[in-house]
Amino acid sequence: MAARRADAGRMRSRLPAPLRILLGLGGVLALLVPVVPAGAGRDAYAASLSVAFVVAMAVGVVRNRPRRPLAWWLLTAGVASWVAGDVLWDLYVWVWDVDPFPSPADALYLSAYVLLAAGCWQFVRARQGGRDREGLIDSAIFTVGFCLLSWTFLMRPTLAAVDDSVLARVLGAAYPLGDVLLLAFLVRLLTTTGGRSTAFRLLVAAAGTMLVADSAYQLVSLTADDGGGILTSLWTLSYLLFAAAALHPSMRGLTDHGPPAGWAFTRGRLAALTAASLLSPGTLVLQLALHLDLEAWAVALSSVVLFLLVVLRMSGLVHHLQEQAGQLAALARSDALTGLPNRRSSDAELERLRARAQRDGTPLSLVMLDLDRFKAFNDTFGHQAGDRLLVEASGAWQSALTVATAGADAVLARWGGEEFVVLLPGLDAAAAAAAVAALRPATPAGQTFSAGVAQWDHHEDTASLVRRADAALYRAKADGRDRVLLAGADGADEQGAGAERAGTPGVPAQPVG
Ligand code: GH3
Ligand code: MG
Ligand code: MG
Repeated sequence: MAARRADAGRMRSRLPAPLRILLGLGGVLALLVPVVPAGAGRDAYAASLSVAFVVAMAVGVVRNRPRRPLAWWLLTAGVASWVAGDVLWDLYVWVWDVDPFPSPADALYLSAYVLLAAGCWQFVRARQGGRDREGLIDSAIFTVGFCLLSWTFLMRPTLAAVDDSVLARVLGAAYPLGDVLLLAFLVRLLTTTGGRSTAFRLLVAAAGTMLVADSAYQLVSLTADDGGGILTSLWTLSYLLFAAAALHPSMRGLTDHGPPAGWAFTRGRLAALTAASLLSPGTLVLQLALHLDLEAWAVALSSVVLFLLVVLRMSGLVHHLQEQAGQLAALARSDALTGLPNRRSSDAELERLRARAQRDGTPLSLVMLDLDRFKAFNDTFGHQAGDRLLVEASGAWQSALTVATAGADAVLARWGGEEFVVLLPGLDAAAAAAAVAALRPATPAGQTFSAGVAQWDHHEDTASLVRRADAALYRAKADGRDRVLLAGADGADEQGAGAERAGTPGVPAQPVG
């Protein structure tokens, strides 16, 4: 509550003083419309206010120099066209004393919808950061839901009015269609990721107020001729809000795009989508409850489209979740530094290869491999050079292993720190030792490693196999490092393949990279 009040305070403080005065004074003047006695006086009063607000809007666009003026000028032209329609209508009624329908005023009103929608579309295009399939589907769900409402309660009754000419009926139905068009673009604007500045909120409030006034007018005009001063007041307020949006300095960045549309499915959007999807059965229930003629075809058609759109949206979500799950699984299996399989992954691989060796009766060997004197390397050349050595050694060993095992199913994994494990299916201990010996010259920066090789005896558990390889590794370390030793079946280690390399083991030669 307190936070909301603070937010409201910030918003107010962001409104420059002249704008606050315009909003306050203009708001009061617009709200006074119903108080003025109905007739030419009231209409002249509302028309003067409207013209003043359109001029203020144009002044705002000129003064603030928006980064994309076209979007703003289209909106201004839309509002101006609407107000021109109002003024022309007033002239017909109060000066020329005629009541023509259709008339050029209708052309002005209907062009206003197109101009306003085109302006909104300019904002949408500029504000969406990259592709936004989800925003598009969500807007379509809303639009279809409201299209059904508009068809059922506004367009259909207008088209069915037998007293009017066909042109008059079609034109009459074009108004609610225009509102649906405007609503579609407004909702699309709301789903964009660009910033929610004060100008943005004012613009959305303006278009929303205009839509409410226009839809209410169409509903009322089906029963009575005049919507009354309240609706005129609402329209005038919407022009004022358009002007305020254009006058606010934050309007300049309203076309700046936001971050790429994320996958955050906010509660508000979920609730709104649910409500929009329920508009279809809701319309049917309302018709049944009010004993109205059933719009069965319209309800059926909109339900099918809504259902398909929701399925499309869900399939996108599921696809995205599957992709993410795959990425997470890959992350969980690999080592962040070297990109090699990690210990978790090599444990699972060992189980799989053990089962295969058991089933096929083939040999399987496991090698524990440990860089020699790596701590000294770190101490001499720094931790980052140590990291680079780990990365480069991993790559070099992996390549050498592929060559040495002729593409067999060998697995090199990082066990932890500077220790690695090599799984060699199909190789007995001697062949495995020879394969690992082939990695020794590939070790970068003149560094060396020690290794212990154990062949699985087809009976022991994994822990025992690893323990034997480890024991052989420790013997290799104790014997002077830079060598590969075989683990004996009874735990006694024996010298394995690979001659000691020239140089003094233990003295870091040179850093990597
Ligand atoms: P030995 O020949 O007996 O194996 O000696 P060593 O120095 O290689 O072994 P020791 O266990 O004493 O030290 C291992 C060092 O490995 C200590 C630790 O700082 C270093 N280390 C472990 N993980 C990483 C890593 O991810 N990056 C770097 N740069 N160093 C690491
Ligand atoms: Mg070591
Ligand atoms: Mg170690």
